[in-house]
Formats: sequence, C-alpha cells, structure tokens
Amino acid sequence: MVSMSADGYAVCVYCSASTADPAMLALAARVGTEIARRGWQLVSGGGHVSMMGAVATGARAGGAHTIGVIPKHLVHQEVADVDADELIVTDTMRQRKQVMEDRADAFLALPGGIGTLEEFFETWTGGYLGQHDKPVVVLDHNGFYRGLFDWLDELYDRKFVSQRAMARITVVDDLPAAFAALKPIPVAEVTQETGITVDKEV
Ligand code: AMP
Repeated sequence: MVSMSADGYAVCVYCSASTADPAMLALAARVGTEIARRGWQLVSGGGHVSMMGAVATGARAGGAHTIGVIPKHLVHQEVADVDADELIVTDTMRQRKQVMEDRADAFLALPGGIGTLEEFFETWTGGYLGQHDKPVVVLDHNGFYRGLFDWLDELYDRKFVSQRAMARITVVDDLPAAFAALKPIPVAEVTQETGITVDKEV
C-alpha cells in the first residue's frame, strides 16, 4: 500500500517490546489504525516485536507513513521493522532516542516495561526542562500505570515533583482523549466570539 501523509504530523509511540497479551497487542494495533486514520505519521523504535510491531503494522495497514528508529545492536533482537517506510539504524541507543524525539511532533506512551518508562521519563523531563514543547501523553489503559502515578502524586504532595512538571504531561484512560491531547486544537482555530471549535476534529 502506498503510504500517505495528510499533514505530516508525526506521533512517536513508546510501548512494550515483550508482552504477548492479546488485549495489549490489539490496543497497539488500534493506535496504529487511529494514527493512519488521521493521516499522521508513526515514529517508533523500529522493532517488529510485541506492541511495537503491532502499532507499526496497524499504522501501515491504514496507509500511514512509518518511521522506525533502531540502534544497530538491536536490529536482530527486536526484529527490525524492514517494512517501515523509513528504517533508520543508529549507532547507539542515545542516537535512537534523539532521532525519535527530533522526528516526532508529539509523544504517546502506551503500556510497556523499563524501556518504555525510560523513554517516557526522558521525554517528559526534556519537555519540563524546556528542551521541547511537544505534547507528552500517557495512555493509562485499564489502570496500567496506576501504581506509578499514585507514587508520583505522593511525590507531588511531598513537594519532590512540581506542579509545573505534573502539568507537562497528559494522562488519559482512553484513546479518544489520548488523540485529542496529542494534537491540541490551536487557539486561533476556536472562534473568538462563540468559543465554538470550527471543523477541526483531530
Ligand atoms: P520495554 O518497554 O522494556 O519492552 O522496551 C520498549 C522499547 O524501549 C524497546 O525497543 C527497547 O529497545 C527500548 N529501550 C530500552 N531501553 C532503552 C533506553 N535506555 N533508551 C531508549 N529506548 C530503550
């Protein structure tokens, strides 16, 4: 299928490279489908395993342009997504993260393990510290991240985490809210007088 890109908006998805849970794989595939449906692009870790593979496959099946970024030492372990429209092989993991961050307009964290958490925290802190101004969204599917955010709330109450930091991410529990947060409607597209949003479904 010929890939398309209606507006080139690119979403970087962080997610598991290991789970085989069918519900999680279905969620990942659905995210890919929704990215494609909007004419957006997918930026991913460039692996073809588990949820990472499901997102990319779902996106491509819908016609999305997919960009996979993988460090050379993981090309075999994570089964490089050779069907990606662009497969970028980096020398190091740090370069992988930098390329993913540079190519993306927004970030979405789905359920994942320590790799996902590491990527999410780096992107979150980067946004908080002013290194980028891109949306950072967490899909807390079925309370997957409840323990983490309970703890972060505690850290916030104890003043280890600032309000400004907490405000830098959007945590949602369903896909429509996630996609709405990934590409907020610019203020200019809301009519001044009525406050009604004009034909800009995202
Ligand atoms: P996981 O969430 O542990 O299943 O890992 C998901 C993805 O994160 C995999 O593609 C890993 O290669 C990747 N990953 C693991 N560690 C890091 C890291 N330090 N920086 C960037 N990505 C990582």
